[in-house]
Amino acid sequence: MEAKLLLVEDEPFMLEEMQTYLQREGFRVLTACTGKEALAIARSDRPELVVLDWMLPEKSGIDVCRELRQFSNCGIIMVTARSDEADKIVGLEIGADDYLTKPFSLRELATRIRALLRRLRGPEDRLMFLKRDNLTISEAKCQVFKDGQEIQLTPTEFKILYTLAAHPGMVFSRLQLLKTALQDEYTGYERTMDSHIRNLRRKLGDDPASPRYVQTVYGFGYRFGEQS
Ligand code: CA
Repeated sequence: MEAKLLLVEDEPFMLEEMQTYLQREGFRVLTACTGKEALAIARSDRPELVVLDWMLPEKSGIDVCRELRQFSNCGIIMVTARSDEADKIVGLEIGADDYLTKPFSLRELATRIRALLRRLRGPEDRLMFLKRDNLTISEAKCQVFKDGQEIQLTPTEFKILYTLAAHPGMVFSRLQLLKTALQDEYTGYERTMDSHIRNLRRKLGDDPASPRYVQTVYGFGYRFGEQS
């Protein structure tokens, strides 16, 4: 099961950027631009984790955090532009679980979210599996099983497969896939994706002429096949 997140941020560009990135990372993402809206969504949709901006108009992130704690034990990551220690302590005393200082990379945000989810869900981390057709993909352990048999993938192949499988049917261009899967590690050209895809298909036993898992969308890129 994918984690349901709520992002609370009053800067539209930043909110959209975080949402797009985290959705591609496989999270279900809800958004709110005010504290009031955030509390309403938290009550109705019960997100597993809330990323909460400190500086919000009207109701501040601190107040939202306090109110949230009265009815929810979801994970809370506070985001602030202020980095002094006092803020950190206050942030943690009001019931936040973790703390990020602006500016931060989207990758750092995703890492903190995963770390907190693992902490909240316990060491078993059973919920971090993607089940697609006869494949089981463990994000936490970077393992892929086909009919219960583990398939050895390189880290790059794993990231590509995970990105595609997190969004069955969604088309990614080579460049998007390269950026999403490899984030800032990518140095090659889009064409290197073709060899990763070839290897991935071979290992998954996917017929290149008619792939079941990793499908080519001509002129666009790749997608994970939707199962009937
Ligand atoms: Ca703000």
